Amino acid sequence: MKHLTILGSTGSIGVSTLEIVAAYPDRFRVVAMTAGRNLELFARQIKAFSPRIAVVAAQEDVPRLREMCSGVTVEILGGVEGLIAAATAGETEMVVAAIVGAAGLVPTAAAIRAGKDIALANKETLVTAGHLFMNMVAEYGVKLYPVDSEHSAVFQSMEGHRSEDITRLILTASGGPFLTTPTEQLAGVTVRDALNHPNWSMGRKITIDSATMMNKGLEVLEARWLFGVPVEKIDVNIHPQSIIHSMVEYVDGCVIAQLGTPDMKAPIAYALSYPERVATGVKPLDLTALPGLTFFRPDREKFRCLGLAYRAIKDGESMPAVMNAANEIAVEAFLEGRLGFMQIAQVIERTMDAHEAHNLKSIEEVLLADRWGRDRAREICRGMVN
Ligand code: NAD
Ligand code: MG
Repeated sequence: MKHLTILGSTGSIGVSTLEIVAAYPDRFRVVAMTAGRNLELFARQIKAFSPRIAVVAAQEDVPRLREMCSGVTVEILGGVEGLIAAATAGETEMVVAAIVGAAGLVPTAAAIRAGKDIALANKETLVTAGHLFMNMVAEYGVKLYPVDSEHSAVFQSMEGHRSEDITRLILTASGGPFLTTPTEQLAGVTVRDALNHPNWSMGRKITIDSATMMNKGLEVLEARWLFGVPVEKIDVNIHPQSIIHSMVEYVDGCVIAQLGTPDMKAPIAYALSYPERVATGVKPLDLTALPGLTFFRPDREKFRCLGLAYRAIKDGESMPAVMNAANEIAVEAFLEGRLGFMQIAQVIERTMDAHEAHNLKSIEEVLLADRWGRDRAREICRGMVN
């Protein structure tokens, strides 16, 4: 029996995680779970999974959630203190980090310091503070399992191999909904167009990140920290069918890939049950039924966010945290109709231009860089006309 805390249980990853938990009541038990704003769904989850602790991000939502859960034995908390209490709950062995954005940093760091293993969906933690997180993982001797499908694929393709024999990681990218849209038409695409991902069903922020290809930029950073491979050895291939989830090339010329029907339940289940495998209900793959698998290089002129991510990696230090913060603000503004699609990259670029990269020695310093990036990006957004 593995005891879990799920940070972000009402999100796309959180809901898929709970589906796996529900299918294996003799393997997994939810000790604590946390949510942002969706109280209706959260209350239903609390009733279905009977956690000991349930936490809402906003303190002012606590009374309403308590009312919605009256008659249920559960400790309901709020705010960052509550998120930390959930992440460090005594019986918890593994924390599923599935909060979106930089808001995941503090609870995930608290979990590591409390000696919990981590199933990591929240890529923003490694993007903004990769060196600090990897040091903490080593210092506290916890295990870090990737949930992101590309990183799970790399992890699976590395099983039984020495990392010093790796010559290249090849991360695959679907290319998102605008892969074949001419660049000059991108300025006019709507939120609805951008949320219409061809292969994956995900939360709103990551779906927009996929449309701009910032998601792949974040994943290059994530891979760099998770696997300790220098960025020059990490390639991105567009693979519109999303069947090969990523590959590892070795010194002898062999390439090992992981394939499957695109469904996040597979990488989530592997992180939860490693080294065992459990049935997930993911549709079996029939290669003969597919029209073909294709691969090509991404167009960095068209998908400017990918180029910006490489620039942030090169600048290093605080630049990825600032880039990530600016991206979160720009994506939010796009989703609210205040920014055009092509302006997302402009906001990020201008925020980065205004930033002088500096060393980050603690999570507190990362949060300061994050705050700086958000404030600056907000200012830049305000000065733009959609
Ligand atoms: P989502 O928006 O569907 O869910 C996010 C969860 O975090 C929700 O439970 C929400 O209530 C909670 N949350 C949001 N803001 C919060 C805050 N300020 N404080 C506390 N909780 C907050 O997102 P998602 O698609 O499930 O993605 C979660 C993370 O996993 C992201 O970092 C994303 O990049 C990563 N990821 C997602 C997928 C996917 O298929 N959805 C794939 C790979 C990686
Ligand atoms: Mg991914």
